[in-house]
Amino acid sequence: MTNPFTCRNFIDGNWLNVADGTILESRNPANKNEIVATFPRSINEDVDKAVASARKAYQTWRKVPAPARAEYIFKVGELLTKYKEELAQLMSREMGKPLTEARGDVQEGIDCAFYSAGEGRRMFGQTTPSEMPNKFAMTVRTPIGVCTLITPWNFPIAIPCWKAMPALVCGNTIILKPAEDTPGCATKLIEIFAEAGFPPGVVNLVHGIGEEVGKALVEHPDVNLVSFTGSSETGSSVGEICGRTHKRVCLEMGGKNAQIVMDDADLELALDGAVWGAFGTTGQRCTATSRLILHRDIKEKFTDMLLERTSKLILGAGYDSKTEIGPIINESQLKRVCKYMDIARNEGATILIGGEIAWEGSLKDGYFFQPTILDDVTAEMRVAKEEIFGPVVALIEVDSFENAIAILNDTNYGLSSSIYTRDINRAFAAMRDIEAGITYINGPTIGAEVHLPFGGIKQTGNGHREAGTAAIDTFTEWKTVYVDFSGSLQRAQIDNRE
Ligand code: NAD
Repeated sequence: MTNPFTCRNFIDGNWLNVADGTILESRNPANKNEIVATFPRSINEDVDKAVASARKAYQTWRKVPAPARAEYIFKVGELLTKYKEELAQLMSREMGKPLTEARGDVQEGIDCAFYSAGEGRRMFGQTTPSEMPNKFAMTVRTPIGVCTLITPWNFPIAIPCWKAMPALVCGNTIILKPAEDTPGCATKLIEIFAEAGFPPGVVNLVHGIGEEVGKALVEHPDVNLVSFTGSSETGSSVGEICGRTHKRVCLEMGGKNAQIVMDDADLELALDGAVWGAFGTTGQRCTATSRLILHRDIKEKFTDMLLERTSKLILGAGYDSKTEIGPIINESQLKRVCKYMDIARNEGATILIGGEIAWEGSLKDGYFFQPTILDDVTAEMRVAKEEIFGPVVALIEVDSFENAIAILNDTNYGLSSSIYTRDINRAFAAMRDIEAGITYINGPTIGAEVHLPFGGIKQTGNGHREAGTAAIDTFTEWKTVYVDFSGSLQRAQIDNRE
């Protein structure tokens, strides 16, 4: 056990204690007796300081040429590479991910740094002929201002990077409000931004409770944009406030993702995908596979294969090299998963394997839940519709391709999706008909890459995308510029019609 790591706020280039002085703690979900980090419970006064710092810095940062802004992000990419292992170890302790996955999380931050920094030399606008003579027309991208970034605990390095890096290269200043479960990872990340030498006030960090400082940051009149990733419930309230206060808002929320396995699928391949999609990150990914839609001709065989594989999965602390499935993030989330087991039983689903808290040996010190397969699930059951966010997958039998697509689409969410089939016609039809922001053909529902847009439709998102060039659209406004070099008043739509 190592000493708890002390986290502070980072405002105007300084590491600060908070006005109130109350200290909170994050614990190791694999061993709840271990305090991983302590962090301040910030109050409105701290929020005001952070916003004032970001607002002041914005006036100079926005004028730094984008390629020069990108140099700082390149530096962050290099530092993330240098500290990758240290960050992965901390992440695994603080939120429970197996180390291989934690390294992948940091790598996503590194990839995002180099990709976003490259945008500093692109950020293209358009030029187009004016309808008038001796007049020039173009569009340029301008930054939006002070951006509040509110992030969840499940990708504690990758998600803040996805938001911070494009926001900064576009000329905005940022205030990160990380999840209460991962203050240590957020602090280490911001230490790296500080080491990269950003001018004071460009990058700020405010710790605290979501309903307190998160809400205060969303409501603050001097914040121009909120980029939020988290549950649909919180996202709705963030969106509501931003609508009322006329802020730009980008929402990435929950998912109820499905993998279809057709009768012609390569079953071994589909099995690898299902196990990784359903149980990777203990099912605590917004893109996790929580429904397996199985063609009736392969259902029995595939279910047996899945059961056999699931029964062999090894639970443990993420930093134990044998571990395949880590803990659930905290006690309340563990209780939520348990509650869904009762719901499943009451609805008439059958628990084929798992369904219980895992207590054996050292697992009793953490929040472990057995990998769980629910059978006899029908599309209208709550376990087929609601996000559980744990190592639980529901099996739904279908008799045709059309039925599979209809059931996949029968959800309020629309993040990720997958189909395993060898039929090229079905694959393309699925690509067209599936209602989701992301579709994988012969791959699991997880595996996003930073240079492609990421996000969902329906109640998963609000029309924005993260990553790829779509992130540049989120963090800039278009300005349309007309330059009239005729030396006389030219009236569009009028003078050229006379
Ligand atoms: P959460 O909504 O509880 O918290 C997310 C963040 O919002 C935290 O930083 C929290 O402190 C803050 N917050 C809470 N209440 C707030 C309020 N009233 N105002 C402002 N901020 C507030 O979500 P979580 O439990 O941390 O994360 C799990 C959820 O996130 C799941 O639903 C998952 O699907 C979703 N998620 C979505 C994506 C995506 O890209 N679509 C990615 C990862 C996670």
